[in-house]
Amino acid sequence: MDQYVVIGNPIAHSKSPAIHAAFAQQTAQTMRYERLLAPIDGFVASIEAFRQQGGRGANVTVPFKLEAYALASKLTPRAAAAGAVNTLKFDTDHIIGDNTDGMGLVADIVNNAGINLSGKRILLLGAGGGARGAVLPLLEQLPVSLTIANRTLSKAQDLQKIAHDFLPDAQVDCASFSDVAGHFDVIINATSASLNDDVPPISATLFSPQTLAYDMMYGAQPTAFLRFAEQSGAICRDGLGMLVEQAAEAFFVWRGVRPQTSTVLANLREELPTSKPA
Ligand code: NDP
Repeated sequence: MDQYVVIGNPIAHSKSPAIHAAFAQQTAQTMRYERLLAPIDGFVASIEAFRQQGGRGANVTVPFKLEAYALASKLTPRAAAAGAVNTLKFDTDHIIGDNTDGMGLVADIVNNAGINLSGKRILLLGAGGGARGAVLPLLEQLPVSLTIANRTLSKAQDLQKIAHDFLPDAQVDCASFSDVAGHFDVIINATSASLNDDVPPISATLFSPQTLAYDMMYGAQPTAFLRFAEQSGAICRDGLGMLVEQAAEAFFVWRGVRPQTSTVLANLREELPTSKPA
């Protein structure tokens, strides 16, 4: 039976096995998908051992996305642009590195939330792994502009440069949080501030009731960022749909079959009974 894993540290919390089991059942694919806890200094050894046992692919999560990028012998353009890999596919000659996070984000906003990003003004908060994966897929939706704001400005500038290398005509700006001004149609929180129930220090005036406020983080309760955005009447959405959509894209990369996501997302949402679907 074809074997896949999600590899990370920690990994016990991961919902990916349940998501991929649902996809496999729905599409009648014969495969096994499990969690793999790698020692912090043992990512490459764990992947090599899994590959030797006949493993076909892996999802990669915190803190190994950069090591997965370095390990891949071939990269998809979206992984190259992201500088991070969340999906590995093993064939006889190569370890192929892909990044489905950004595609998952865009699929959730466009298909699930029904928001067309073409012609929109987008603000992306953060310049870490999640943000890096999002930049190219967001720009491919042809927004009128993308502003990247980050606590460490140099990392936002690096991301702006990468975006210009891939799409020279795209309007990409960067700023520190306190310098961002104006109005945005979509504001995406890709910082990990939510992990500490914190909000990046941006102005509440950036939001309007027409703004989509999207937090990549998900959980039982609305994040501090979403609570902050809600005070301005913004449309709020968490990252649970992104999680399911990035998994669906990885499933497609491995199996060549695109699973249907809405039921899987609805079931996951049910398991977070106190959460407020946005
Ligand atoms: P990284 O560690 O790679 O990046 C963290 C980012 O957050 C950096 O830009 C960092 O800024 C910034 N940051 C950290 N703390 C603060 C703070 N207190 N105030 C302002 N900015 C801060 O994390 P990831 O990109 O991997 O993850 C970011 C978030 O996205 C997490 O909540 C994660 O759960 C979520 N995520 C969700 C996914 C999904 O499928 N739904 C997929 C991927 C990520 P600096 O550069 O200055 O350090």
